[in-house]
Parts: sequence; C-alpha cells; structure tokens
Amino acid sequence: MNRLVDELASLPGIGEKSAGRLADYLIRQPEERVRRLTEAITDARENVHHCRECYTLTDTELCPVCSDDNRDHRTIMVVEDTRDMQAYEKTGKYTGVYHVLQGAISPMLGIGPNDIRLKELIARLEGDISEVIIATNSSLEGETTAMYISKLIRPTGIKVTRIASGVPVGGDLENIDEITLLRALDGRVEL
Ligand code: ZN
Repeated sequence: MNRLVDELASLPGIGEKSAGRLADYLIRQPEERVRRLTEAITDARENVHHCRECYTLTDTELCPVCSDDNRDHRTIMVVEDTRDMQAYEKTGKYTGVYHVLQGAISPMLGIGPNDIRLKELIARLEGDISEVIIATNSSLEGETTAMYISKLIRPTGIKVTRIASGVPVGGDLENIDEITLLRALDGRVEL
C-alpha cells in the first residue's frame, strides 16, 4: 500500500493526501477494472511516440493532422506541447499544420534551444512554407522562445507571426476557451 501511495504521489499535481485517497479507492475496485487501468497505461507508454513530422504525441508514424492532405501544409503553428495543439484543434477553425516543441526555453530551469524540437522546426522550413505562427504560451518561457524563434527565422524571409496577447499573461493555451484562442489567432501580428 505504501508503495502504491508513493508512486501515485510522484505524479504531477497529486499530493500525499490525494495519493492516499486514490490508493484507497483503487484497492476497493474489482480486479478487472484495475487490470484495464494498468493496461491502458502500459499500452499508451508502448505505443505513443512522436509524429515524425510535427513531433506531437501520436500512435501512428504521422499524426492525423500531418497525414491530412486537406490541411494547409505551408502554414505551421508552433506550440509548446500536444495539449496546446489539441486546444487549437478543438476550435476546428485552424486549417494549417503544427510544430510541437515539446517544451519552451527556460534559462531558469536550464532548458536551452537544443533541449526542445527547434532544429527539427528549422529543418522543416527548407520546404515550401509561407507562414510560421508562433503560439507559445504567454509566460516568460513562452515569450523567450517566441523571440528566439523569430530571430532564427527572420533571415529565411518566411513570414513569422505571433498570436495576439488576448491570451492572459502566464496563461497556458490548454486552459483558454475557444473564442479567445481564435481571437488570438485572428489578431496575430507579424514579427
Ligand atoms: Zn504530425
């Protein structure tokens, strides 16, 4: 029981108390239910990897967005993680593709440009790209990353835009409602 509580407490957002409650709940469940839960975790870990084009998490080689010929593959929206991409996908209004950095530059946490999928983004720009929309979060890390990317892309002559600051400062894209997301996208400014 202690081992289970320790494991649960090590998950993000779960404190010692919640871990205890969860453990208590789990051991009261039918064995079949617990087996399905552990299987779902194992399956996800084994089968989910990064899309070879945009680096989002997916269980196919190319994610559904990248493999969709009806999307505008010349417009790339740069986001920090898969949840941000899902937030924009939920609006159903964005027709371009994405690039998922899997993080943001943070000197404080020792995360530099080489620790996120930036080289991969630059490699994609060799193709036929008309616009890069930077949609990193409006946190210090997100802004630092946006600035870094815009400087990197400017010499290529490709249009670089940043989503409008309708997104509250420090706000994670995934927690923002769809209308605000679309307003931020429509109001994007050229860098
Ligand atoms: Zn993809």
